[in-house]
Amino acid sequence: MNRVRCLVFNSALGPLDYRVPEGMAVGPGSVVACPLGPRTVLGIVWDSGRLPGAEVAAEKLRPLREVLPVPALSAPLRRLIEWTADYYCAPLAAVARMALSSGGALKGAATTTEYRLSGGLPERMTPQRQAAIEALEHEQATIRELAGMAGVSEGVLRGLANQGVLEPVEVDCDRPYPLARADFAVPELTADQRGAADRLCTAVTAGEFAPFLLDGVTGSGKTETYFEPIAEALRMERQVLVLLPEIALTEAFLRRFEDRFGAAPVLWHSSLKSTERRRAWRAVAAGTAQVVVGARSALFLPFARPGLIVVDEAHEISFKQDDGVRYNARDVAVMRARFESVPVILASATPALESLAMAEAGTYAKIDLPARFGGAELPAIATVDLTREKPGRGHWLAEPLVAALEERLARGEQALLFLNRRGYAPLTLCRNCGFRFQCPNCSAWLVEHRFSSRLACHHCGHETAVPERCPECGEPDCLVACGPGVERIADEVAERLPEARVFVATSDTLNSPGRAADFVAQVESGAVDVIVGTQLVTKGFHFPELTLVGVVDADLGLEGGDLRAAERTYQQIAQVAGRAGRGAKPGEVLIQTRHPEAPVIAALTAGDRDAFYAAETEARRMAGAPPFGRWAAIVVSSEDESEARDAAHRIGRAKPVLPEATIYGPAPAPLSLLRGRYRYRLLVNARRSAQLQDIIRAWLGPIEHPAGVRVGVDIDPYSFV
Ligand code: ADP
Ligand code: ZN
Repeated sequence: MNRVRCLVFNSALGPLDYRVPEGMAVGPGSVVACPLGPRTVLGIVWDSGRLPGAEVAAEKLRPLREVLPVPALSAPLRRLIEWTADYYCAPLAAVARMALSSGGALKGAATTTEYRLSGGLPERMTPQRQAAIEALEHEQATIRELAGMAGVSEGVLRGLANQGVLEPVEVDCDRPYPLARADFAVPELTADQRGAADRLCTAVTAGEFAPFLLDGVTGSGKTETYFEPIAEALRMERQVLVLLPEIALTEAFLRRFEDRFGAAPVLWHSSLKSTERRRAWRAVAAGTAQVVVGARSALFLPFARPGLIVVDEAHEISFKQDDGVRYNARDVAVMRARFESVPVILASATPALESLAMAEAGTYAKIDLPARFGGAELPAIATVDLTREKPGRGHWLAEPLVAALEERLARGEQALLFLNRRGYAPLTLCRNCGFRFQCPNCSAWLVEHRFSSRLACHHCGHETAVPERCPECGEPDCLVACGPGVERIADEVAERLPEARVFVATSDTLNSPGRAADFVAQVESGAVDVIVGTQLVTKGFHFPELTLVGVVDADLGLEGGDLRAAERTYQQIAQVAGRAGRGAKPGEVLIQTRHPEAPVIAALTAGDRDAFYAAETEARRMAGAPPFGRWAAIVVSSEDESEARDAAHRIGRAKPVLPEATIYGPAPAPLSLLRGRYRYRLLVNARRSAQLQDIIRAWLGPIEHPAGVRVGVDIDPYSFV
């Protein structure tokens, strides 16, 4: 009897058994179409005996419909899916879905018709046609994509196609990517870099699991160094995955990669067009995508012949996914490397405490790059004490920082002001009645954005125009902005240094690879004097003429007071400081703070990372926090406040009493309303040896809730709101 157990793409259902029809060839990992009730759902044939489920009588089994024309998911990827679901207490189907992340790819080989300008002109020119023709020079894409690029309707373009102004081009959806060449432009490495690169290359050649922590100061050439093991993998015809924390960083990375290897890598991120997704997915599965650079979702791509995984800026919190399957891409990357038996490199100038602890324990091999490339010095870091140097009312830049900015401007050098707050002001209120603008869906203030004249919620995306009158008391012209965002700092720079050319760099302004590239080009050409930016500009960028970094409010990150606040502040400031003085000219960093004596700030100014990590490690040990203990957050939510509260209390009453775990809560979450859902939290703090996931499953599993209640489990949480 030919039966198989399948993981079906329905998180509410467990694995199901199916009959394999005569003549259908399936094995573990095959992607199949499964009948489910009247519908057909996607499924993956799983290894027999690994998924629990009821045995259904043979005659009741329904036959599989078809096998989809893609390679079977490999055993290491199946193990990774199992591990991720188990470790993060997530449904297997939800994790597996991340591996089959391109619907188009599953349909098999195909061609599509794209269009490009033929050079001809329409019989009758209209403003829209004119605009389309101007916008689409050098572009080739489907009508729909071209319409998006040109900002005209598809109808306009179809008209142009009918007249031959746009000509059709048949393209193979899976046309191969240009080949990267290992020896295209081999750099001359410094002795330190060479030593590091050699160790990493040896590991790639060995083809075994080997985790490395590449710990190098900012500007030490970590990228240059890990390019060598990538070259080694290319020589062995093995695939490489490079994870970057932000799409905004990929542009700079692509250029460097192309300079080194003669061709761009394959990109993977959430805003790829669906045709690009399917092409990338299929090339990864076929083994022809040599190097994939992507955001965390690239981790679950079906690599045919992986040889190396790199996680750049590995400490970054954006590697933690905070909805859906709540996984940490850094940790999953290490697990994937383990299942695939390949080396993994975690590169960072400010590693996560957890990673350093793994290195100290000998689990990760630590490789140091202690000096900047080309003899550049690390910048001098000093504080500006805001309790003494008070900026004027409605101002945030203290005199010493303004003076330093003026100096740079006079010398034709560049400066970067860092404030991790988008928009103009984090709170808007009515001077007359005190009304505060709040999001209707979240317990959060609306943030004013002056560029777009909108009030926006940074949690749910709710937006409204800035009204002329107070919506509460009806008074006109009475709204006041409270506190600064980057846009307001940019205004202050313009006021204090009228001739300075200012660029506000945030996820609002660098929201596409093209815009990010444009930003880099402007700064490199010297068209920008002062960059005002959020955490987006704290890493990856290399601007030799940038010699001053000002941290507008170092205390901001410490206020939340969560477990990782100090570490995150340290990392952020050390990273942004690392943007200064990367070229021949020395860099200077000024940190504005009301607490110059705080251990984080003192460690930064003293350049004493070891002292900071030692103190932070001790604090974590005392608190039983990671890496010494384990945390898990349980977030209970519902659109109905009392339903959420009842569910949270039901869970609270059932909490187990155990020597190895303490459970706190339930309590209303700090963000007690988010996207229209009321939220309660519980927190589990367990000993390292505790079987945390088993405890949680045994506790939460039997409790039933109304359909509107969601219970999210966040293992190793980063967010405490
Ligand atoms: P990190 O990632 O450690 O901050 P990068 O890899 O960005 O450092 O290197 C900093 C700068 O130094 C880059 O412009 C890089 O091209 C340059 N660089 C580093 N090592 C070398 C080398 N061996 N040869 C030439 N340029 C190098
Ligand atoms: Zn909101």
